[in-house]
Amino acid sequence: MKRIAVIGGGVAGMTAAIFAAGSGAEVTILEQKDRVGKKILSTGNGRCNFTNLYQTPDCYRSDNPEFPWSVMKQFDVHQIIAFFLEMGIYSKSRNGYFYPHSDQASSVLDAYRMECRRLGVKILTDTKCLEILPNAKGFYLKTEQEILRTDAVILAAGSKAAPVTGSDGSGYTLAKKLGHHLIPVLPALVQLKCKETFYKTVSGVRVQAKVSLYVNDRLAAEDTGEVQLTNYGISGIPVFQVSRYAARALYEKKQVKAVLNFMPDFEPEEFLTFLKRRIESRPEKTLSEFFVGLFHKKLAELWIRESRIKPERKTGSLSENELHRLAGLIQCFETEVEATNTFEQAQVCCGGIDTREVDVRTMESIYVQGLYFAGEILDVDGICGGYNISFAVASGVLAGKGAAGCLGSTR
Ligand SMILES: Cc1cc2nc3c(=O)[nH]c(=O)nc-3n(C[C@H](O)[C@H](O)[C@H](O)COP(=O)(O)OP(=O)(O)OC[C@H]3O[C@@H](n4cnc5c(N)ncnc54)[C@H](O)[C@@H]3O)c2cc1C
Repeated sequence: MKRIAVIGGGVAGMTAAIFAAGSGAEVTILEQKDRVGKKILSTGNGRCNFTNLYQTPDCYRSDNPEFPWSVMKQFDVHQIIAFFLEMGIYSKSRNGYFYPHSDQASSVLDAYRMECRRLGVKILTDTKCLEILPNAKGFYLKTEQEILRTDAVILAAGSKAAPVTGSDGSGYTLAKKLGHHLIPVLPALVQLKCKETFYKTVSGVRVQAKVSLYVNDRLAAEDTGEVQLTNYGISGIPVFQVSRYAARALYEKKQVKAVLNFMPDFEPEEFLTFLKRRIESRPEKTLSEFFVGLFHKKLAELWIRESRIKPERKTGSLSENELHRLAGLIQCFETEVEATNTFEQAQVCCGGIDTREVDVRTMESIYVQGLYFAGEILDVDGICGGYNISFAVASGVLAGKGAAGCLGSTR
């Protein structure tokens, strides 16, 4: 029976283990933490958003852009939902975002552990792989406790994001020692730190806005949704969605700015007309009174300060120029991005093992026969919405079957 060792007991590693064991291999997972699947527990705010019905190539990012989609086409969203159901996870959809019906991420982990047990997958916790040593017949795996012999290795050690869950980046070192190259590993799906000092005055405000990210004055990415203003900068889903481009540009020492549109449903001309009509119906209101009921007070105060118009001015007395200035601040608010938050706060990393060095059908290394990769260790990052677990599952399936030599098997 073929022996396969899986390094890393996250979604990718456990999926790979399940598919390899289901294809008849003898599988052992090496997990450095005291239990498998720690990261799963914090996903989707404790509910685990594991996939999404909306799937296009743009939902996945990589330096080798065709790679993630080629993987996802081999194990698509419907197969992911069916696989989860087979493990007992009946799912619920919120506008196409899929969660376990229990709304508990812990139930996803439980289902994975039960499936591993059913298939006889051996799980060694508190076992860190220190080195992968290929030889003519397979591999020796050096751990703190012993040296294990195996025929094939699936490296699913995750990235550097949220290292408290176990992904400490040691998988990259293991791969590099075997000749693999890394696309720079940087925090992604993460908050952005901004230069301006006013953020403390608006900290805690949540507001619907469009975030446009510019790198050296060229639009790199944009997204709309609820933005959270913090005492150091900007957060929230739309910020997460554009953050990997900021991380990469800052790493390359480029200039990064975000432009926030706090009235994204209005075209600029429409918004000016809207403001003028509102002024016409209440010209006696002061500028601070004028925004009541329209925007959060802290935001309105910020714009008034930035516009350098006195807050006690009657709106009826504002000049066309002053009105344009205010509208510009509301719809085109520029902020300079200085840094991303750290790996500790990031949900995923962009960068990782260069996927040009991996066979897209089997996830096998092009350098080392019998070495396979799965999950976030690869240079693939999905947008928010279940795409990262989707990729961890799909690549895990291919790696598990590939390592067992059973591509085409149905498990
Ligand atoms: C707060 C948060 C919320 C998230 N929410 C979602 C969500 O709702 N939907 C979604 O799709 N994605 C979400 N993600 C991202 C998603 O969780 C990950 O992309 C995915 O779990 C990655 O799986 P993985 O198996 O590749 O890596 P990991 O889950 O990181 O697993 C890697 C494992 O390898 C182990 N390991 C590392 N090195 C070694 C070694 N040398 N020896 C032995 N073991 C080792 C680690 O301890 C770890 O258990 C979220 C992430 C975070 C942090």
